[in-house]
Amino acid sequence: MPSLIKQQDFRKVQNLPFCYLCGGEFKAGSNINRDHVPASALFLKEDRDVPLILSTHVACNAKEHASDQLLGQLIDQIHGRPINPGYRKLDATVVEVNGQVVTITKDLNIHQFIRRCVRAFHAALYHEWLPSDTANAFHPPLRGAQLDGDTGSPTDEFNRLLMTDQSLNQHALFSRVLKQNRVAKNTDQVLSQNGKCSYDCVWSQLDDGQPICIFGLKIYDWQRFGELAGYPNRGCVGFYGPKAGRPATATVSTELEFPFPNEEILDPFGN
Ligand SMILES: [Zn+2]
Repeated sequence: MPSLIKQQDFRKVQNLPFCYLCGGEFKAGSNINRDHVPASALFLKEDRDVPLILSTHVACNAKEHASDQLLGQLIDQIHGRPINPGYRKLDATVVEVNGQVVTITKDLNIHQFIRRCVRAFHAALYHEWLPSDTANAFHPPLRGAQLDGDTGSPTDEFNRLLMTDQSLNQHALFSRVLKQNRVAKNTDQVLSQNGKCSYDCVWSQLDDGQPICIFGLKIYDWQRFGELAGYPNRGCVGFYGPKAGRPATATVSTELEFPFPNEEILDPFGN
């Protein structure tokens, strides 16, 4: 079961022979960056060890800067600082809907952030490149929503989603699969940043046989982002299905039933 937990595990992957962003092999004289994933700015000083650092082409890394702009917002939320609702440029905001305080983000940016983490963890765990256009479904810890372009308020569509939220079934299923496999000590794992960044994954398949990786990602206590009165914590889960199939060393989900508590059904790291 591949895992990155100890310092030497992280040291081993710093010099993978390919760029995890474009998949290209490094050649003599390539301009190379050391990319921290997630960015170290997300973490308090006392939580900066051990970071996951991967090599990338300088040019590939520069293209990712747009998604880094999300960081300031995430940092404030993770560390519980109040959000200034006047910031229209920000990617997430806190609003009141039907008397409940809800965190809202534009899906695109949080999805970019998660995708970058997943691609880095895939490269670090399996020493394989994960293309950026790999099919996926992510369920972020934040409640995603469309904001009205004129008023900045959540749209009616958001209100509807708040009531029904079709994706909750998949969210609960993935959380359950991850908990079950963790009890069985059957997950591939990255545990970095003094334990404040935790990634667990296990491999299954769709009905058509396409192998998929089911993952959970936790950064600090971000499952509390979307907190609502009477609404459970919501962790980050998702899946992706590489065209290249399942890596040879990847861990396949157990079929065995192990008893485990599952009170927080939307949080793969919860009780
Ligand atoms: Zn590259």
